[in-house]
Amino acid sequence: NSQLIKRTFSSIPYDPESVEGNPVRILQWNVLSQALGQNNDRFDSCPLEALEWKHRRCHMLEEILRHNPDIICLQEVDHFDFLSRALATQSYSGLFVPKPDSPCVYINDNNGPDGCAIFYKNDKFDLLEKHDKVLQVWTVHSNQVSLLLVLKDKSTQKELCVSTTHLKARKGALLSTLRNEQGKDLLQFISSHAADRPTIVCGDFNAEPTEPVYSTMCSCSYLPLDSAYKLSGSEPLYTSWKIRGGEGEVMHTIDYMFYTKHKLTVNNILDMPKEIDIGVNRVPSMTYPSDHFSLISDFYFNKNTKNDC
Ligand code: NDP
Ligand code: CA
Repeated sequence: NSQLIKRTFSSIPYDPESVEGNPVRILQWNVLSQALGQNNDRFDSCPLEALEWKHRRCHMLEEILRHNPDIICLQEVDHFDFLSRALATQSYSGLFVPKPDSPCVYINDNNGPDGCAIFYKNDKFDLLEKHDKVLQVWTVHSNQVSLLLVLKDKSTQKELCVSTTHLKARKGALLSTLRNEQGKDLLQFISSHAADRPTIVCGDFNAEPTEPVYSTMCSCSYLPLDSAYKLSGSEPLYTSWKIRGGEGEVMHTIDYMFYTKHKLTVNNILDMPKEIDIGVNRVPSMTYPSDHFSLISDFYFNKNTKNDC
């Protein structure tokens, strides 16, 4: 198997006096559904071999495991059983929530619906609560979901709320409004379970930073969130870079890790790969298994973070 595109970390300056405990490393990634990637996306510049499951699954695991995350948030998962079995060997437990009407199930030889998954190191965390929700738009169910776990750090007894989502795709004013409504519903869902805990909200929001849903996520009065990758100055130029038949080349930032800034401090972030390493055919490719790049961030607990809920 060919080598994965190389990745390096950037450290974010922080005050060591204001934090405590060990940092928690969180990975966020739209892994690209096997059924959609092979049959729907029209990644015409990608070699067919690179899209085969027997090739992709190795790189998918390598990308997930190479930086040893404590918590893994994934979207477009249509091989949860495979990931679950493989990651169990590395002390991860995982939970999965499928989309209600996944486009995968309409594809021949599909492997079931795609959805969101969260894995956590079971030697480091206890699972206290699990919640999931079909996101609503003007009180009507959409086809998008969110998964939320409340975890307790075994060594420090600190609690952490981690959630993930994959918002509605595609361009257009109506869809941008729809994503914003999904974002509002997501925030209410999360705050109802997060209570006063340090909280991470990550996912594929299918929205560039100029879209209303990005502002909605960063200006919530009852759940004050900041974007981890913005701490390096601004959001990255891209978290996804692909070439699709019909659509052409698309390079943009649509994946985020939001966190409660008064309770957590970002230490390191994993940089996006460089253009020269990505290559002219972009991704997916023989050296990267998804059209989205993974995001990784290390979070410290701020001192005096109350954990009284
Ligand atoms: P979304 O619009 O959210 O997109 C579903 C998936 O398509 C996402 O994973 C998305 O990936 C991917 N996608 C985005 N843009 C493109 C593109 N230009 N070309 C190919 N794939 C793309 O869909 P919903 O979850 O709301 O589900 C509705 C969809 O399900 C319908 O659009 C329909 O295609 C399909 N469906 C099909 C049925 C059938 O009978 N064939 C019946 C019911 C549903 P990403 O987020 O990475 O951009
Ligand atoms: Ca996709």
